[in-house]
Amino acid sequence: MAQNSNKLELSSVFPLKHLEKFSFKPNPPWVSEYYVNNAWFETAGLNTTTPNAPLLEEKIIADIAIVGGGFTGLSSAYHLAKKYPQKRIVLLDAARCGYGASGRNGGHAILYPMVQIMEVYKKKGREAAVEFASVAKQGLGIVKSFIEEYDIDCEFEETGFVEFIEKERQINAVMEEYKILESLGIESDFLSRKAVSEKFNTTHFHGGVKTNSEGGLNPCKLALGLKEVVQSMNVEIFEQTKVTSVSPGRTVTINTEFGEVHADAVVLGTNGYTSTLNLFKKYMVPFHDYVISTAPLTSEQMTSLGWKGREALADNRNLFNYYRLSGDNRIIFGGELVKYYYGNIPSPGNNKHVISLLEERLLKIWPQLKGVKIEHRWGGTDGLTRDILPLIGVLGEYKNIFYGVGYSGEGICWANLAGKIISQLYAEKDTDLTRFFLLNRKPPYIPPEPFRKIGFDVHVKYLAIKDRFF
Ligand SMILES: Cc1cc2nc3c(=O)[nH]c(=O)nc-3n(C[C@H](O)[C@H](O)[C@H](O)COP(=O)(O)OP(=O)(O)OC[C@H]3O[C@@H](n4cnc5c(N)ncnc54)[C@H](O)[C@@H]3O)c2cc1C
Repeated sequence: MAQNSNKLELSSVFPLKHLEKFSFKPNPPWVSEYYVNNAWFETAGLNTTTPNAPLLEEKIIADIAIVGGGFTGLSSAYHLAKKYPQKRIVLLDAARCGYGASGRNGGHAILYPMVQIMEVYKKKGREAAVEFASVAKQGLGIVKSFIEEYDIDCEFEETGFVEFIEKERQINAVMEEYKILESLGIESDFLSRKAVSEKFNTTHFHGGVKTNSEGGLNPCKLALGLKEVVQSMNVEIFEQTKVTSVSPGRTVTINTEFGEVHADAVVLGTNGYTSTLNLFKKYMVPFHDYVISTAPLTSEQMTSLGWKGREALADNRNLFNYYRLSGDNRIIFGGELVKYYYGNIPSPGNNKHVISLLEERLLKIWPQLKGVKIEHRWGGTDGLTRDILPLIGVLGEYKNIFYGVGYSGEGICWANLAGKIISQLYAEKDTDLTRFFLLNRKPPYIPPEPFRKIGFDVHVKYLAIKDRFF
């Protein structure tokens, strides 16, 4: 295990002037997004089912309060309720479970988050990268155990992953990177340009690398399935209940629009929305990612693509696409360009420019899909740290403010794993997970506006130039 250094201090996360009480501005788009045309929501029934009632009591005394009903909050609820069935656990979500990034993402359940592993390898060395990979790997294990143990129908398929190579001159560099990953125990197979064009009926790429590093799923179905599981374990879930402030202390006070919760411990599972609570602003920005989905493909369209192995796909650009087939054979196609909106606001809905780039790019890869109907176009908000590594740990004078945020685009497995880690931190257990070097770390600083916006935009421009010319 690498050393656990650089503990994140409470005062550096909670600005001191807000220590007593943090408040944030009401009204959309702080949480709600205006334009949600999401294939996962539709197929999981999130659009058509009624959310739980809001918290209407004036005051609730709980053992543990969880803010956010995405994978972090739900998995924390699960692991805590399993360990402490006698404790009163309440979960509050401003909208409803699965409404955040957990119900909107690309559905790539990642066994090995390779970009993050390479980041750790380059900055912290081989030993840390091996530990990182072995901890990260447990995330998919947890997702699979939820699905198997509770029979959650979320279209899970373990089909492996292919990273396409965009430019001929990049082949050697990509192979070098995979050689490093192989030395860490992640096996891969190189696909020549010919093999890619035969398997996927596209001439756009110059090769690819196949690994068994992913599964695919319908993330909204998983979130709704988990909600049912934790409710059956007596976790009380209040939806349509926006938390307006969190006040630390031996007993944490969580104010909502309607009533307040007093709890011995709180779990923050608000990821990309956390800045609306005025927390973690120095270390994380909410970034916005967009996705389109086609109508279910006809059998002729499926045949025209090859893609018989239904692998999860992406390319090797910095601003890359990620795509896969849904259970009903839609192409779920995301990425291309990420956005940050001035002042840390969660996505105000959609972004026409990015959506049009996605539509163009899909046809560039597979011109044979010309005329395919794009049925859904949506966006979501995720938390991004400067070193693209997650933030998981515990804060506060009384060590009772637990958090899992900043998954930087790789959150399906990380967020589910964070729930388990948080339950072990709460139990004050000494385990491989609670000794993980990444916990409680102090991540690189991100300055306030206007430098934050300028920095983000300049960096994205730089990545776009790199992708175009190098
Ligand atoms: C478009 C997109 C594509 C992605 N693709 C992938 C992918 O393919 N694979 C992958 O591994 N990761 C992907 N990610 C990242 C991944 O989805 C997230 O990291 C992960 O779902 C985060 O889960 P979470 O529970 O921490 O946060 P969320 O799912 O965002 O949940 C946060 C919850 O908190 C609630 N909330 C917010 N503020 C408040 C408040 N004040 N009071 C009460 N409740 C509040 C919200 O309503 C929401 O339900 C993607 C992200 C996006 C946006």
